[in-house]
Amino acid sequence: MENTKTMYAIEIKNLTKKYKEFEALKNISFKIEKGDFFGFIGPNGAGKTTTINSIIGLVKYNGSIKAFGFDAVKNYRETREKIGLSPQEYNFDRFLTVEKCLSYTAGYFGIQKEDAEKRTYKLLKKFNLYSKRNNTPMELSGGMKRRLMIARALIHKPEILILDEPTAGIDVQLRRELWDLMKEINNEGTTIILTSHYIEEVEALCKTICVINKGRIIEIGKKSKIMKDLSNQTLQIKTDKRIPNNLIDHKDLAISNKNGIIRITGKEIKKDANNIIKKIENAGIKIKEIDLKNERLEEVFLRLTGEKKSLLF
Ligand code: ATP
Repeated sequence: MENTKTMYAIEIKNLTKKYKEFEALKNISFKIEKGDFFGFIGPNGAGKTTTINSIIGLVKYNGSIKAFGFDAVKNYRETREKIGLSPQEYNFDRFLTVEKCLSYTAGYFGIQKEDAEKRTYKLLKKFNLYSKRNNTPMELSGGMKRRLMIARALIHKPEILILDEPTAGIDVQLRRELWDLMKEINNEGTTIILTSHYIEEVEALCKTICVINKGRIIEIGKKSKIMKDLSNQTLQIKTDKRIPNNLIDHKDLAISNKNGIIRITGKEIKKDANNIIKKIENAGIKIKEIDLKNERLEEVFLRLTGEKKSLLF
């Protein structure tokens, strides 16, 4: 075991995974700090689930994975106890009640009956599932099933919670309720790793963003830094007549100039906005409307991965 001061919640070094000849993960390395809310995003087939399955010991791999200093292979048991997983697909035992689904899982982790019952009660209440405790998971609504998946992942009080597409297929309002729950769990100190195709969700919740594409990490960093470094701004100005093309020329700006609307896109356009407006007014052109838009994480993500929106889902 390493010194606790240098310990990360997750530390992945040179992780490579081959399915026969196909290399799904190509030598990836990254660290996740304790208490982080880590967004792991990438297009379909990028390697997110393979990475998660490697962390929890479901697939064999080359390289090294540690959870709080414990090696995921050599110290499998200790690692597994540190991690709660809510997988992408529902995998409930269809014959168990909601209550048993939680208490049996506690049993798998060696939690004594009395403690298991207490913990189950607490989670049923917290996740608003108590009134459904005697139903089977298949009798729950989509949102309730998703909540049960997360409650089950938390039964053994893991320090790391992995949520693989936790809001897939549920409506906007239920998704927002789950966001609040996730934030609460993270605020209580649990490190969360979230994969989601809803980039808006990752933008709203995560502190760190990691983008994976075709088995390689292509961007990783604090969300604020990624947005500062990579997101563009667009200044849109509506005028009473067409602005001459040569009025605003700058090599770092993308300009579209059509039908009395000019759109100028670049880094920190805000800083140049006053100059641009003055130039237009000095040319005797009347400004009717001004709008400034910041690119969202989704647009940055699409640019980074070269994907079209429709391919994400
Ligand atoms: P999604 O967003 O669609 O869930 P993902 O990023 O989780 O995608 P993975 O499920 O990790 O992607 O898959 C990564 C690559 O590995 C894909 O090309 C996939 O087809 C391949 N793959 C995954 N599991 C297996 C397997 N058991 N056998 C062979 N290839 C696999």
